[in-house]
Amino acid sequence: MNTIGHLINSKVVTTSDRIQDVYNPSTGEVAGKLSLASKATVEEAVAAAQAAYPAWRNTPPSKRASIMFRFKELLEQHASEICRLVGQEHGKIVHDAMGELRRGIENVEYACGAPELLKGDYSKNAGPNIDSWSDFQPLGVVAGITPFNFPVMVPLWMYPMAIVCGNTFVLKPSERDPSSVLFIAELLHEAGLPAGVLNVVNGDKEAVDTLLDDDRVEAVSFVGSTPIAEYIYSRASANGKRCQALGGAKNHAIVMPDADLDNAISALTGAAFGSSGERCMALSVVVAVGDEMADALVSKMKEQMGSLKVGPFSDAKNDFGPVITKAHQEKVCGYISSAEKEGATVVVDGRSVAVSGHENGFYVGGTLIDRVTPDMTCYLEEIFGPVLLVMRVNSMEEAMQLINDHEYGNGTCIFTRDGEAARYFSDNILVGMVGINVPLPVPVSYHSFGGWKRSLFGDLGAYGPDSVRFYTRRKTITQRWPSAGVREGTQFSFPS
Ligand code: NAD
Repeated sequence: MNTIGHLINSKVVTTSDRIQDVYNPSTGEVAGKLSLASKATVEEAVAAAQAAYPAWRNTPPSKRASIMFRFKELLEQHASEICRLVGQEHGKIVHDAMGELRRGIENVEYACGAPELLKGDYSKNAGPNIDSWSDFQPLGVVAGITPFNFPVMVPLWMYPMAIVCGNTFVLKPSERDPSSVLFIAELLHEAGLPAGVLNVVNGDKEAVDTLLDDDRVEAVSFVGSTPIAEYIYSRASANGKRCQALGGAKNHAIVMPDADLDNAISALTGAAFGSSGERCMALSVVVAVGDEMADALVSKMKEQMGSLKVGPFSDAKNDFGPVITKAHQEKVCGYISSAEKEGATVVVDGRSVAVSGHENGFYVGGTLIDRVTPDMTCYLEEIFGPVLLVMRVNSMEEAMQLINDHEYGNGTCIFTRDGEAARYFSDNILVGMVGINVPLPVPVSYHSFGGWKRSLFGDLGAYGPDSVRFYTRRKTITQRWPSAGVREGTQFSFPS
């Protein structure tokens, strides 16, 4: 069976470190074996990145960007192969994997603008005969740690920008679906990236902790669940590293009494159940304003869910596939059971969904739970499965209060025809990414991605303009060339 290794100094390395199974969630079978990097393997990758840094730092941004142009073409040429690898280990249906890849490529396109993005600021005559300018210089070796749910897109949020800014990179992807990451890293080398600039180490906590504690690593970008994000942020910061750690979510959609309900239902269905709800921007809670709207919404949603197709990744007719592991399948079903026990109404129950011919796959069917209240476990925690909760409130203020009181603040959305209500909502809601009649308001690559509250630890979001700031540090130079014969005397007061 295929043993998946690491990519260090542009070479595929398979170590005899600990080995872990990688599953095909659509069938429940083992799809590959993964070697989990030891401390020594990770240190080797950091050493490779450190050795590559001086030459890469001094490579002109336009040369770095030209590699990104070739990389983009290779990603497009190999799209089908990439999506097959994603589907096999993640379970994502091919059309969804293609969407993920497309959003990833947008970040490579943004990175192609490096010469423009890295232009410093210049002030002539900041003082008499004094010029001053700011440079954005790379940090050195940067690490990225990524989650299973977007094995292609989330790494592409990080390393194209990090390396185009002149850093070298060590990526530690999710151990659940590593193959597409390695395949893509090889494409970047085919595009002309010098050895050691991007290294990929597969592994678990041991690999992550090694990166967090290694003095040669200057900065860490993390995306994953909130408890781990908080841990990464604390440990990296305590070790003096710059860190951004994006965490989990509980994204609410408000449906106002004046909303176009048919539009809202189709938007909610895709955003709640697409990718089996395993998206940090998935809409997992719908807050209906007014009982009349709530009744209509639940009844239409139930009807719409009758046609949801869940099944293996390889059948493009399916709407969504399995969840990532057997343990996660059990966890999601456990949340549904807890909601029932705590007094909510399970309107559509996906716990015992049967997928013919794939009985051992990790499937959970689309689930709709009505009359959820803020004290329920299913509401307080992130489920990360195809489960949509319905809450009933009497006013928009009440709906906004719910959202503002929740520990997460990643994404949210309002469905309404009232511009004034929408404007008030977007202005006052304590959430980082807001949609108005847009269910998944994932910012485009030239904005930046980031939640509020416990959905992001750190100051800067992922990709876009924030990533230029995160992956560089400002150096400000002030210069004067005294003319021959003109000399100033010693000055003891602060120059003004
Ligand atoms: P996870 O937190 O379990 O794992 C993320 C990464 O951390 C993986 O590389 C994993 O190997 C590593 N890791 C896990 N446990 C660790 C530990 N104890 N010590 C050190 N490293 C550890 O997350 P996941 O299950 O892979 O992904 C799903 C989560 O990611 C969800 O909570 C989702 O909301 C979140 N997510 C957030 C965003 C965002 O942008 N905010 C985007 C995608 C996913």
